[in-house]
Amino acid sequence: MDQANVATGVGIEPRQPKRCPLCGATVPPDPLGFYQCSCGWGGPGDPLEHGRGLSKLFAKMDREMADEQARKDLQRLAMYGDSANSLNIGYVLLLVFVATAVYVVVGAIFVGCVWMILAGILDQAWPMVIVGGIFLALILTGIWPHRRGKSIRATREGFPTLMAALDEVGQRVGTRIPKRVMLTPRTEFAIGRRLSGSDVLYIGAATLPLLSDVGMKSILAHELAHARHGDTLLHRYSGQAEYLLHEIVYGILEGVLGQDRGGSISSVFGVFLNWTLLLPFRLLWFVYHLLRMHESRANEFAADRAAIHAFGPQAFIDALTGVLVAQRTFYRNSRSLVAEMQRNKSGSFYAEIRRHFGALPPHIISQLRVDLAKGFRTLANGHPTTPDRLRAAYATFGALPPSPAPTMPAYMLLTPAGATDAEAVEIELTKMLFNPKKK
Ligand SMILES: [Zn+2]
Ligand SMILES: [Zn+2]
Repeated sequence: MDQANVATGVGIEPRQPKRCPLCGATVPPDPLGFYQCSCGWGGPGDPLEHGRGLSKLFAKMDREMADEQARKDLQRLAMYGDSANSLNIGYVLLLVFVATAVYVVVGAIFVGCVWMILAGILDQAWPMVIVGGIFLALILTGIWPHRRGKSIRATREGFPTLMAALDEVGQRVGTRIPKRVMLTPRTEFAIGRRLSGSDVLYIGAATLPLLSDVGMKSILAHELAHARHGDTLLHRYSGQAEYLLHEIVYGILEGVLGQDRGGSISSVFGVFLNWTLLLPFRLLWFVYHLLRMHESRANEFAADRAAIHAFGPQAFIDALTGVLVAQRTFYRNSRSLVAEMQRNKSGSFYAEIRRHFGALPPHIISQLRVDLAKGFRTLANGHPTTPDRLRAAYATFGALPPSPAPTMPAYMLLTPAGATDAEAVEIELTKMLFNPKKK
């Protein structure tokens, strides 16, 4: 495949040049079919189109810097291939140092709150106890791990097909299989990397309808690659620090602003808090986020690279765009899908999604893949955009081994031991989806 283009690659009309709404220039699509104007406009739907005045100025500055960073990332990948993602030792040390500072600060706030409560009780200074108590509660709710919904634990005995696939992925990526593999009713596809304890792999059944077995293995390879080597410890340590800081700042704000129902006192209080007490923490978070961004992006590109090494670029591209289409369908069309399900007296929401896609002409699905493969660069995002991930993947055609041919649809990998298909599992997941609390 020498003429790699997202549109022609899936057999639909190549894109036409567009007029840039910001500067008026005519922008031809790049070799992959994405728009990228020299003024910073990143194609239709770009939020830059709507900004005004000062916010537009800031948005353009943000875009310029993010563009520059992305260009460097892609250049490095093109020049150095697999070694492009190795991190400079000075950078790693700085990251560890600042992450440690973040933990110290968070610990100090925690200790401060506890001290306020205890000292307040001893002095019978009740307002102090109350303020300390409120902040402690806000911090604790902020950092309390978010409860995931119900899920099915996939064991080696119960799900031999999935485990065989995971074994193959683990072998190709060179990593061990997480001890806990959870099938969830929704659209996550992630590896939960806890600071301590073992990793948890989440596989959302609603992400699978457009994937082949090879595509699913490609995504699994990406996730398992996140848990590989020593960088995972750095990734966890630095990532957890950013998460903690973010949750505390925004958890407190949400806790304060969330109670605001019509009354303006608490929201004035929130604004006040935001610009006084929380300001240093927000600044710290901002600086740390920018610092960690390089690690976070390099990590994501490296995981993509590992997936492409293991199962070829085509499987990776198909799976990445296939998951995007499935996620959108899950969130946008779930009502009509439920109605269909009831009409068909079917107990499987996932079979209904597949019927939905099966009834669509293939070029519509291709069009959706291309349309959803967008994303606008910003420093706010620690991950590379989808177009950049696709750009990196397309650049490997010819250089890395091609994808093996699919042998079955991805959902069949969920077939439990002793069954001939995944229907029973899908029915159980459907029940979890619609009755998340019961059982
Ligand atoms: Zn322009
Ligand atoms: Zn990832």
